[in-house]
Amino acid sequence: MSEAIKLFIEDARAVSIEEAAKIMRLTFKRTGVEHPQPCPHCFGTDTFSFNTKKEKWNCRAGGIGGNDAIGMAAHCEGLDVKSREGLLEACSIVLDRDIPEEGERESDEDRAARKKRLEERRLQNDCAFAERAASQDEFRERERQKARGIYQSLTALRTAAQMHGRFYLQYRCGGYPDATWLRVGGDVTYWHGQDERGSPLALYSGLAMVAPFIMPDLAPIGCHITWIDLDRPPKFRPQLVDPTTGELLPTKKMRGSKKGGLIPIAGHPDCSRWVGGEGIENGVAFGVWEGFRADTFYFAAGDLGNLAGPADPSSRFAHPTLKKPDAKGVARPVMVAGPIPKRDQDAADAMWVADHVRELVLLADGDSERVMTAAAMARARARHARPGRIIPIVWPRAGYDFSRMAVETGE
Ligand SMILES: [Zn+2]
Repeated sequence: MSEAIKLFIEDARAVSIEEAAKIMRLTFKRTGVEHPQPCPHCFGTDTFSFNTKKEKWNCRAGGIGGNDAIGMAAHCEGLDVKSREGLLEACSIVLDRDIPEEGERESDEDRAARKKRLEERRLQNDCAFAERAASQDEFRERERQKARGIYQSLTALRTAAQMHGRFYLQYRCGGYPDATWLRVGGDVTYWHGQDERGSPLALYSGLAMVAPFIMPDLAPIGCHITWIDLDRPPKFRPQLVDPTTGELLPTKKMRGSKKGGLIPIAGHPDCSRWVGGEGIENGVAFGVWEGFRADTFYFAAGDLGNLAGPADPSSRFAHPTLKKPDAKGVARPVMVAGPIPKRDQDAADAMWVADHVRELVLLADGDSERVMTAAAMARARARHARPGRIIPIVWPRAGYDFSRMAVETGE
């Protein structure tokens, strides 16, 4: 690899997520640091998001994310950074600069000057990365503490004087668990955007169901909040609107960390049979349907990425029917994250499953895109496979999720 190419890559490594997002013409919300939008590569609604403060990007549809601009550009453009061409192409995108010519002859002087610049650039990058990592750690710890604070101050949904949590699950899932994991609060704040001084703004406050994300020691690392409005069927959630853009906002949020953790719904992780999928409502509906078995722990992963973990790039495949136009306007098949888990991944790249689990029942989401979901469920099964463990995947009726099936059967 020539010095010019090495320098080119080091330059690209120094580009922040924000700079790259501007060059790539990604969408910025008018306020805040989190910028959700459809994935330029996988489509969907708000499947893709980047965060200019945490220096992170994530695609829920592709089950992939990271903390560098090069990786973000590669995902959005469907490039493989493991290949030389893919990497250089991604660098070229974030730098908005052509790839330097390989093999050009340079004088000894030029060469020495380049080497020096390259060395300086490398040092700068290493310092910047260390600083960024330290502030990210601090930020994460603060967020975790806030999440614990929210969760621990609330009362258990099954006993709370506040009936709304029970009614919400009754309406959505046909019942609720007799467990203390899920909690409910009458006055949970919805933070959105920032004021002129950069402080978070309280957009709304109201009834919410709050669940923890726990690790194997059962300590919460984050929480999952679902705001409730019993007067608004069929989802029974409030309508929240961004005051500046007029866009509808999600009525579920996660605080703190979720990666590697899971949401307990009913039963105890000590059980040898576990049942769960992406969302809380589906897990509850399935539990209600089978009568919340005493030998079973019911859980939710929070999202598909945390359920299935990242995919091995070699298993990516073209969607059989979905297409999207490339830069030249030619329709190309949408690439789907494949069924094979990424090699050498971190334990925290997906939710934990206790070693003693003999039966892990995975609940698929029937109202999400079928091919992408099927690939992710196969990946989840491969990732959590162990000798002596069976992992059935249960599908609801096409176009449905278990919670809608429960409601329609109950009526
Ligand atoms: Zn994507």
